[in-house]
Amino acid sequence: MELDRMISDVKLKACPECGHTIDYKGLGEYFCRTCDKTVYDDYGKVRHFLEEYPGATVLQISQATGVDKAKIRHMVDQDKFVINGHPRDSLM
Ligand SMILES: [Zn+2]
Repeated sequence: MELDRMISDVKLKACPECGHTIDYKGLGEYFCRTCDKTVYDDYGKVRHFLEEYPGATVLQISQATGVDKAKIRHMVDQDKFVINGHPRDSLM
């Protein structure tokens, strides 16, 4: 399925800012030793945002992270996230 491919392709291979190799730390987080900072892939961005704003809706997450809404919904479908404690209520 196309969305499954989108999600599995989400992993970063290089730092989006400097292009150097990054270390995968898990859960969508990476560390760039060149920039000396943590960078996130789409999954990591959404996860990080939800840690700060646990009650956020899919639309709010999408606007804040720039991650496609369909991708976020797919992550929720895969039970990677619980949004507002009622994952499937927030999907429409
Ligand atoms: Zn970098």
